Amino acid sequence: MTKPPIELTGIRKAFGALEVLRGVDLSVERGEVVVLMGPSGSGKTTLVRCMNLLEEPDSGHVRICDCAFSCGTRSDRRGRARLMQRARQQTGMVFQQFNLFPHMTALGNVIEGPRQVRNLPMAEAVALGERLLDRVGLVDKRDVHPSRLSGGQKQRVAIARALAMEPEVVLFDEPTSALDPELHAEVLEVIQELAGDGMTMVIVTHETHFAREVADRIVFMDGGVVVEEATAEAFFTRPSKERVRTFLRLVD
Ligand code: ADP
Repeated sequence: MTKPPIELTGIRKAFGALEVLRGVDLSVERGEVVVLMGPSGSGKTTLVRCMNLLEEPDSGHVRICDCAFSCGTRSDRRGRARLMQRARQQTGMVFQQFNLFPHMTALGNVIEGPRQVRNLPMAEAVALGERLLDRVGLVDKRDVHPSRLSGGQKQRVAIARALAMEPEVVLFDEPTSALDPELHAEVLEVIQELAGDGMTMVIVTHETHFAREVADRIVFMDGGVVVEEATAEAFFTRPSKERVRTFLRLVD
């Protein structure tokens, strides 16, 4: 059996005196879609940022595909930096605020990673970029700068950009929370299609209807720990914890 592409063990993270993650264990299987839910401030964003080492845990173990990382040790800085870079290439990240390069076109944003990091020749990078823009329904916007795109279109370009590195796993941090409600569907549809294609994904979202449709497993966090893990069906129809029932009453 192959190892799960993401495996976190005993993850702890504090910002000053604030303990944000207090011992989290979580594995994500190949092809699985895991949705992280929970109240604001429960540590969801910090946890996904730990999954690609944008945030380094204070302690615990992170394994991303073939990169195993023991957190909190200060030895072998160079080796760790190399490992971090490789780990980040294997995980695409889609942020709340899109984080597109404003001075580049949609295509320029998508091909920047393949050009700079994977050293792909220009013609190949452009062919890849056009294919990915087509996949998110935006090939006609290839030469448009982000300032001329709607929020939903920006987020779809950001998804194409994440895919351009051909990652093993894509991480989404509240991909629709910065968008007007009428723009949510176009982004969620793209994510749903990726799920249908078998992409391994971790998604932080408050969109309960979407979570119910897309998730293989829901992980509910509160106070920096995992409180409940269940299939989407079990989570929404028969949560075992009162904390989850209260949360679902509030968000529905
Ligand atoms: P969630 O995604 O569940 O809302 P977060 O992981 O964003 O939770 O945040 C958990 C807590 O950590 C919050 O209280 C937040 O203010 C704090 N926090 C997150 N990042 C930082 C940071 N870089 N510096 C200080 N505090 C932070």
